[in-house]
Formats: sequence, structure tokens, C-alpha cells
Amino acid sequence: MSLFHLDWFRCAGGYRIESFDKIGDEPGFWFVEMESGRTETGDFGLNIVANSEHWWPTRPLDLPGLYRQLADCEPNAEGALEFINRHGFLNNPKSYAEPVADAVSTILAMRELVDDIDDPDWQMIAQTLDGWGDTSSGGIGQLGIILETPPDLYRPPYSTRPTLKLRPANLGSALQVQALEDACLGINLRNCKSPECPEYLGSNSHRPQAEYCSQKCQRHHSYLKRKAAKK
Ligand SMILES: [Zn+2]
Repeated sequence: MSLFHLDWFRCAGGYRIESFDKIGDEPGFWFVEMESGRTETGDFGLNIVANSEHWWPTRPLDLPGLYRQLADCEPNAEGALEFINRHGFLNNPKSYAEPVADAVSTILAMRELVDDIDDPDWQMIAQTLDGWGDTSSGGIGQLGIILETPPDLYRPPYSTRPTLKLRPANLGSALQVQALEDACLGINLRNCKSPECPEYLGSNSHRPQAEYCSQKCQRHHSYLKRKAAKK
């Protein structure tokens, strides 16, 4: 069981790409008043925008190898939108918008990290981690602490005591932490067998022989195979 936990949110209405254009030579930021009365500002240029203020709670670190899904995304606005549509903003879950440029640099950083893990180049990873610690954001070293109350007394681990967990600062850092944890534990991941499904399955999953991420995916793949056989 992972040492880390992150509660996150995904916009129920999905997300879109929007360009906030600068008017004239005025320096500054765009400014939006939302339905709830909350105001938001941000950088000009391409942004990914939440379509509503309704949020679904998610637990991204429960998805095996989610960091690999991020690394698989194209490092452009469409790639970032695809990931954010599935898993929410990378930095601040309930914000109105996030700059495309930030999401793209998170995708590129993740690609580099995954390359170093697969190679593997531990020295390089360790050096990069030291570098992250110097950035103004605090890198991935910023961890909060949460107490997870006992979820269910009748299921493993049958404990009546809460569990102490570390909470990464945001989804972007959580995925870097997930990548490093998998690398250190030697977790092998495989793709879901259904074509076009971006999900991964972990070697530590409770279904070690599973080929599909879900029954839905398995049924969809059988359907595709039946349809192909009829042609
Ligand atoms: Zn799948």
C-alpha cells in the first residue's frame, strides 16, 4: 500500500482550450467572475478552462501507473486537454483555468523522468530531484500529512486505527512521486489490452493475471474483435 495519498477533483462539465488575448499593450492578467461569484485571474495566451463549477472527487494515485499516461500524452494543447479531461487540472483542481504552457512542461518533465526510469539512470534522477528542490514551487519535496480514517472494518487491513499518509502538493507532483515510488519498488506496468485504452495495470494489483483495466474494456475489445471477424 502506498505511502502517498491525494484527493483530487475533475470538472463534471469537462474542459476546453481557450485563448485569452491581450488587449493593446497593457501588461497584466485576464480577470473572470465566475457563476459562484468567485473571481479568477491568469496569464494571457492559451489556457485550458473548466466548463463548469461542478466537481467530481477522484483518487488519482489509486490508478496504477497514471504518470505513464501523462508521459504518453502529446506535449501540446490537445494532449494536455485529453489528460486533464480524464483526470483534472495538474496544479489546482478547482481553478477556472490553467495555462497550456504549464501543462506541456509537466508532460515533458514526466517524459524525461520516465526515460530515466526505464533506462535506468538513477544518478540523473537523483540530480534532477535535487534541482526540483531549488525551484520556487518547492519541487516535489512539499508534502502534507493526512490521517486516513479506517475505511472498512470488515475488509483488509482490518485495522481500527487511522493510517498516516503523505500528501503531495498537487497532481503534477503526485505523479512524479508515483513514478519514483514505482521505480524504487520495481513495479512493472503493462498496458490495458484494449486498443485505444490509455490505462495501465500494475504488477502489485489484486488481479495479477488481468489483461484489461476493467470489464467494460474487456467487453469492448471482444466486441471489436467480433466485428472485425465478421468483415
Ligand atoms: Zn482499459
